[in-house]
Amino acid sequence: MIKSNWQIEQSCPQCGAPIILSETDHILDCPFCRTRLYLAPDKHFSYYLPPSTKIGLQGELFYIPYWRFKGSSFKTTPPTLTYRFLDTNIIALESSALRSSIGMRPQTLKLHFVAASTKGRFIKPRLTLEEVLPQFVRNKQKSLHNSFIGEAISLIYAPLILYDKKVYDGILGKPLLTVGADFIETLSSQTAAPKTGIKFIPTICPYCGWDMEGEKGSLAMICKNCNSVWTLQGQKFDRIKAATMIGPRMDENTVYLPFWRIKAKFDGIDLSSYADLIRIANLPKAITKDIENSPLHFWSPAFKVNPALYLRLCRQITVLRPYDYESATLPHKNLYQATLPIEEAKEGIFINLTQMIANKKRDYPKLKGLSIAIEEYRLEYHPFFSKGGEFINPDMGVGISRAALAFGNML
Ligand SMILES: [Zn+2]
Ligand SMILES: [Zn+2]
Repeated sequence: MIKSNWQIEQSCPQCGAPIILSETDHILDCPFCRTRLYLAPDKHFSYYLPPSTKIGLQGELFYIPYWRFKGSSFKTTPPTLTYRFLDTNIIALESSALRSSIGMRPQTLKLHFVAASTKGRFIKPRLTLEEVLPQFVRNKQKSLHNSFIGEAISLIYAPLILYDKKVYDGILGKPLLTVGADFIETLSSQTAAPKTGIKFIPTICPYCGWDMEGEKGSLAMICKNCNSVWTLQGQKFDRIKAATMIGPRMDENTVYLPFWRIKAKFDGIDLSSYADLIRIANLPKAITKDIENSPLHFWSPAFKVNPALYLRLCRQITVLRPYDYESATLPHKNLYQATLPIEEAKEGIFINLTQMIANKKRDYPKLKGLSIAIEEYRLEYHPFFSKGGEFINPDMGVGISRAALAFGNML
């Protein structure tokens, strides 16, 4: 597995001091003027690699889009579900004349946020991430479904220079000999630089004006004054539902790990109550009237973990269902940051269902064309206590190794 994080060069919007961010950061914390700003990208982060100043070509500057994906890929090839971790970038155009991936090392080059004022002409992506990703899981066996849980999804624009009817790599300065006249024609028709770019918004509670808390990589900002949790919707904060789960053995050393609880509507498979899940997964549980009437919730971790642990946690918590006691008040300390967005959790439901289906022959065909719509969700903080190298929730019998969490934080 490759562990690489790009770095981003950005000056502080308040005082202008140079700051280096990591691509997993969501907060810009200026050490000089103490400003704290939340990074609000337009849909996803868009970066560019500036052309090298060493190559000395005075041509016209263009940028080629590459999708950057870091996360887990899950492949359902009946009767198996396989997974792997992906850390990659791939061209967002149908062009065989250009490099299929950026190929530069994050250690040697730094990214910059694309802004409306960025010089150069930007070629719009013509392929979506969903269109380019499946080529990483292609093999002889035809898969039924491919799922991707993205922890970092962004666009990186790499520079090209058009000079004297030849196209040059904007970093290495070498001519791209495979590029033909028709591509150069395409280039000359590109005009617009992206109009929207990243916004920097204050980390102040939109409801009460208090400073919100959150670590650098956090997707959920917390206001401890009015007890509210906020995530980005578009380029502003939107309040989300949240709860703290109460266990019998909580004390001041309790650590709280975030999980998404989702209620979904399924079209294509009979799945609306917990009893339906017991039947589909063939769980050793008696179906009582209560269970028959109890709504079906799916849980998935709201933090980054490796794909094997992701699968285990999704299954364990969805099957075990957390205890009934909860509090609307958020814990005052030891909250582990949420780093996996709710948008990715929908794909997580699909994968979780895939692994739980007991009668694969009967139910796997239903997965094809299955539609899942999220009806309701909330962020739940679950109590764990630390024992040896593990975080344990004894009420559910769930353990997560510290090393797995530390690993997740580096992703
Ligand atoms: Zn500053
Ligand atoms: Zn507040």
